[in-house]
Amino acid sequence: MKLVCLDLEGVLVPEIWISVAEKTGIDDLRLTTRDITDYDELMRRRIEILTRNHIGLDDIRSVIATINPLPGASRFLDTLRASRQVVILSDTFVQFADSLMDQLGRPTLFCNELVVDSTGMIRRYKLRQQDGKKRAVDAFRSMGLEVTAVGDSYNDLSMIMAADHGALFRAPDRIATEFPDLPRFVEYDELLAFLLNHAKSHA
Ligand SMILES: [Mg+2]
Repeated sequence: MKLVCLDLEGVLVPEIWISVAEKTGIDDLRLTTRDITDYDELMRRRIEILTRNHIGLDDIRSVIATINPLPGASRFLDTLRASRQVVILSDTFVQFADSLMDQLGRPTLFCNELVVDSTGMIRRYKLRQQDGKKRAVDAFRSMGLEVTAVGDSYNDLSMIMAADHGALFRAPDRIATEFPDLPRFVEYDELLAFLLNHAKSHA
């Protein structure tokens, strides 16, 4: 049985933190896993910036409510889900994902959680588990599933390498250059063709 694991931000929806940076005018929040590969360091910096600027969870959620999936993402996902099981593996947080998951037809999502205090300020985050994307792929493979993983950044590479098949979607040149053997796609139609035909393994 075939399963597709997709990253969320950069693949199906815009980078949430960049949208928050734009709406709040706080440029420091533009950093993503594309810039800082250490996720813990990145999240600590984000939480510190939010605290310093008195931005709470509700402020961020109201920004996220104005974000739409990337053009063509919903149609891509609907078509894919008609013939493949699909799970979204994301480093985002349940508190962030709601409105976007609604717009995408409520696909299965495994992600992390934010810890928020009584004043609505984000204090820390709780990982589902360390290296959760890769470990989800390992677990799915242990269940006898043939897994294809697709992502756009550094935090997707371990799940892509752990999968039976993998590809980059709209990845920056830097990552594509470092991993020249991975198929790389820009348009949903070509990614869909790859996923439905199950192109050769990256191994
Ligand atoms: Mg991403």
